[in-house]
Amino acid sequence: MIITTLLSLGVVCQATAPDETTPRWYRGNTHTHTLWSDGDASPDHVVKWYAENGYQFLVLSDHNVMQQGERWFPVAEDGRLTPGQLDALVTEFGADSVETREEGGLTELRLRTLEELQERFDQPDRFMLIPGEEVTDRFRLAEVHINALNVIETVAPQHGDSVQATIQNNLDAIAAHGRTHDRSVLAHLNHPNFRTSLGVNNLAEMRGEHFFEVYNGHRSVDNEGAVADHSTESLWDQALVLRLHEGAGDGELLYGLATDDAHDHYEVDAVSVPGRGWIMVRSESLQADAIIDAMKRGDFYASSGVTLNEISSDERVLRITIDAQPGITYTTEFIGVGESETGIRPTAEVLQVTTENPASYTFTGDELYVRARITSSRAHPRPYAEGDWEQAWTQPVRPMVATTPQTSPPRSGP
Ligand SMILES: [Zn+2]
Ligand SMILES: [Zn+2]
Repeated sequence: MIITTLLSLGVVCQATAPDETTPRWYRGNTHTHTLWSDGDASPDHVVKWYAENGYQFLVLSDHNVMQQGERWFPVAEDGRLTPGQLDALVTEFGADSVETREEGGLTELRLRTLEELQERFDQPDRFMLIPGEEVTDRFRLAEVHINALNVIETVAPQHGDSVQATIQNNLDAIAAHGRTHDRSVLAHLNHPNFRTSLGVNNLAEMRGEHFFEVYNGHRSVDNEGAVADHSTESLWDQALVLRLHEGAGDGELLYGLATDDAHDHYEVDAVSVPGRGWIMVRSESLQADAIIDAMKRGDFYASSGVTLNEISSDERVLRITIDAQPGITYTTEFIGVGESETGIRPTAEVLQVTTENPASYTFTGDELYVRARITSSRAHPRPYAEGDWEQAWTQPVRPMVATTPQTSPPRSGP
């Protein structure tokens, strides 16, 4: 791309900017709530935090609703929007930007629509709002929450006659929305351990779309699992084995995201705050369809604080270059399935541990898949749980097919 700059002398000169087609990493969060559902802050307050804290994209994913149409929210001392917060909004955005009315003796705030928010906050190659929704469904006691990214109107929960049918019907409806509207959309299955709702087979059997939250920052979602083999990471590995070794689901890789699922936007140490988990996507541009397409290729990783400069793999080696910070050490664990005896279902294990940077793993060629978890020696500043370290999780790769580089009313709850 050529930028034209007008100098003070009136001379027009041309400077070369970084090539537009060179992919770069974009940081984003795909799961956050506002007053449009059960979050505790107006959408402009929420978006401003992300825009000012090093994110390039954000999905407001309210429960079964998009930020569309006219919506008024009551101000009440004991409510989710207090008079003090309303005053703070006026200070933050100016009186002209805070629209209120008196209704039935109450002051009400008009919630900004996605379109208005995009107009205010979107900046080319700096920040972008991607439309979205948390399609919030359930089967009996099982919570089935699926984030739909880049949809343009609400996708209604589809229900089903089993947990798996409920998942699949929603995945299918989101994919159909993409086809109908001719746009790239993506669905990710959220917090599998929330209320012990989902199990390994649910992840293994997903068809057509294959993304889930390996890390969700909401403290009620039980990422670690009631027992060790029910942690989200263990579910990931077990589901990968079922998908790749036994052909469960559509046999595709399963990709992991980290998200905030933030509802609490006014406290730093609350149940679900912004800034706990995010994804880094390597894309040729900051356009919604480019970000979605890069994720579909697996060209992204999940992070709760560790930044990577490069992830590459070929038929021989998986190599990860960490953006190391002074005084911090990084431990990279390569996790996967090595050789297995015929007929026996293999289990994932840590294949190699290194503190080197770049961290590399040389394939034997027999691996079912390999992924990496990088853990830093720096404590997470906004931890999900006490004692959390900053981490990153790369997507699983198969050595034989490795690419270069790989790179309604509001519901309460996450
Ligand atoms: Zn949820
Ligand atoms: Zn949520």
